[in-house]
This record gives sequence, structure tokens and C-alpha cells, in this order.
Amino acid sequence: MGEDVVIIGAGQAAAQVAASLRQGGLHGSILMIGDEPHLPYQRPPLSKKFLIEGGAPESLALRAQSFWRDQDVRLVLGTSVGSVDVRQRRVLLHDGREICCGTLVFATGTRARALPVPGVDLPGVFSLRRIDDVRRLRPALDSARRVAIVGGGYIGLEVAAAMRSEGREVTVIETEARVMKRVTGADMSAFFEAKHRVRGVDIRLGARLTAIEERSGTLVVHASTGEPHAVDVVLVATGARANDELAAAAGLACEDGILVDEFARASAPLVYAIGDCARFPSRRYGRRLRLECVQHAIDQAKAAAAAILGAGEPYDPVPWFWSDQYDLKLQIAGIMDDHDSAEVNGDPATAAFSVEYRRAGRLIAVDAVNNARAYMLGRRRIAEETGDGAR
Ligand code: FAD
Repeated sequence: MGEDVVIIGAGQAAAQVAASLRQGGLHGSILMIGDEPHLPYQRPPLSKKFLIEGGAPESLALRAQSFWRDQDVRLVLGTSVGSVDVRQRRVLLHDGREICCGTLVFATGTRARALPVPGVDLPGVFSLRRIDDVRRLRPALDSARRVAIVGGGYIGLEVAAAMRSEGREVTVIETEARVMKRVTGADMSAFFEAKHRVRGVDIRLGARLTAIEERSGTLVVHASTGEPHAVDVVLVATGARANDELAAAAGLACEDGILVDEFARASAPLVYAIGDCARFPSRRYGRRLRLECVQHAIDQAKAAAAAILGAGEPYDPVPWFWSDQYDLKLQIAGIMDDHDSAEVNGDPATAAFSVEYRRAGRLIAVDAVNNARAYMLGRRRIAEETGDGAR
């Protein structure tokens, strides 16, 4: 047999499962295979500090090269896995190498959702998911006066805030009737929309991108409502989709994400999936969830490592997440999307307040702006109130 554990992907979840396996006493070999050329790194700064201040890719590394060497975790970087035989637990790399393993972990993350719209492949149109995206985007932004951001989710709005802080004109084009609809409730959306508008962001809600065209060095953005709009750079930030094709082609059960159980086990023996690419059952929320946030990547990786080592506990977190926009820190605990009541605590005018979301009287989520205490207490109460399932 080749390796004891092979991890496909070298991002946040991959780094954590490898580190936790060693910490938990695994003596066998661990091999991590990542298609990006960088050491495992943190992505949140890509739309925040790293976008504004730049820096070397190593500044984002989760661990130094020496850590992986000391932990005897081997990294194959800049090479993708092209196919997998889950029954034989054999992976075939695009460079032709074939590797067998005892345990296989998918930690393949997500990628920027592609928009089927004419012009999205023009020079000057970007997406933002990787260090190398920032390396292409940043020089274009440096010479841009006008930036259009397609998508008013948290990544789009973080970039809008960064661009306004640099004095660039920013237009946000959002299909939905409110910003950040996927992650937060109506009151919080209205608060953030107002904050962006006050700072000069032109937010166009209910507008769907229909085409981008190039006219004498300028990009013209067409949307379903409003006039065509001339800009220098377009960022498409319309969400992510799970990298589950490799797993699906290998015969693993997938449904917008690799289906796993509460121990991160996929539908074949000794195969696991963790992080953004995995869809897991949550008793707490009464359905399967696929989460895209750092804490989930870390915690599910720890749960998978424990399961691989034979000491697993069922994984059923209160998810949490943050976003930084201007001087506003939004912290989100839980999942609000099927709430039946929302209560605002504090005065949004002070820019330090929170919103509590309930379903059938139980607290299922809390959003807090510049209010770490409300967020911390909320998280604890959600854990208590949803501990035996939210439904
Ligand atoms: P990833 O970190 O995406 O790693 C997966 C890796 O696997 C990638 O390198 C991918 O290229 C690689 N891969 C895929 N297929 C293959 C293959 N076939 N062979 C080899 N390698 C492969 N979360 C927060 O909680 N707070 C934030 O503020 C926040 N901000 C964010 C800002 C941006 C711009 C982005 C993009 C994400 C942000 N996130 C944030 C989300 C967070 O970064 C992700 O949830 C986290 O990185 C998920 O970790 P992961 O290991 O599952 O996936």
C-alpha cells in the first residue's frame, strides 16, 4: 500500500485534518495534494486586508513550511487530482502519478460560480477565490476609477468597502431585493445597504447582469434594469459552488456537495469529506447543511480526524461566521434562513446592535454588529435551545 492518508485539496480543512491527525497520534504517512501552488492558506483576507495592503502569499499561510516538515506531512502542490477510484482508494494526479492510500479525505472546497452571461470572460472581468485571483485583480484595480461588483453578498460588499476606502467609484449589481440575503435577515441587510449608500456605493437591487461588452477600452455592464453602465473593472462575486465533481465521478453520493454523515464519512468505506465541499446532516437544524466558513472547515476537520483515529463524536455545530466592512464587524451565529420571527436589540443608529432569529420560539441564529458580547451570548443560547433539534 502507498500512503496511510491522502487528502485531496490543501486549504483550511485539509491543513486542519492533517494537523489534528498528527496531534491525535497518527504515526502513518500523510500526503496532501493541492492544485494551488501555495502552502495551505487562509482565504478571508483575500477580500479584506490582503486585497487592500497586498503582501507575499506566505503572509497568508496557515503554517510555515517547517511545520509541515516537522509534522512529517508531505505536500504535493500545484498539481490537481484528476480521478479517484474510491473502492481501491487510488488517486490519479494530472501529472500522471498514481497513489494508493488507506484513508482518503476530500477537502476540495468550492470555486467561484460561473455566470452564463456574454462577456464574463473579457479581460477586466474577475472573480475572487484564490491568492492568484488577487494577484490579477489588484493591478487592474490600481488603475481603475470605476468598479462594478456583480453580487451583493458578503464578499462583494467587503470588496465594495475596500474600493470606497481607496476612493474608487463602486456600483453593486444584485439580483435579489436586498443585500447579503443568503446569510442575514432583512433588518441587517437594510442596515448594511444604508451604510454602503452613505459611503457612496451605488447599489442596484433587483438587477440581473445580462451582458458585459468591451467598447474602446471600457467595459459596459448591462443589467435587467437600469441604464448600461461604463466601468474599468468588473468583479463577479455571485457565490460559490462545491467542488464535488471528482467525488461524483468516483461514484460517491453528492447533492450540491459530497454527502457525509455526522462523522464526515462519505458513501464509501474509509472515504471522508470535510469543509466547504461536504454536505452533512444537522440534527440541530433538521436538515443537511453545506457551510462555507472557516470555523466549520476547522471543526469538521477535527471531527473527521477523530473519526479516522477511531474516537469520533457526532459533529453538529452552531455555525459561525464574520464579515468586515468599513468599521463594521458583522458576526453571525447559527442559521437564520427559516426563522419565523426576528427581534432587533439595541439601536442600529449606534452601529452596535444585534438581531435574534427564532423559529417556533427557539433561538436559531444571532447577527451582531460591533457587539461581540451579543454574539457570544447568542451562540451559547442557540447551542442550548437547539441542542435537541430545532424542529
Ligand atoms: P478551500 O480553502 O477552498 O480549499 C480547497 C482547496 O482544494 C483549494 O485550494 C482547491 O483549489 C483545492 N482543490 C479542489 N479540487 C482539487 C483537486 N481535484 N485536486 C487538488 N486540489 C483541489 N469564511 C469565514 O468564516 N469568514 C470570512 O470572513 C470569510 N471570507 C472569505 C473571503 C473570500 C474571498 C473567500 C474566497 C472565502 C471566505 N471565507 C470566509 C470562506 C472560507 O475561506 C472557506 O470556508 C474555507 O476556506 C473553506 O476551507 P476548505 O478547506 O473547505 O476549502
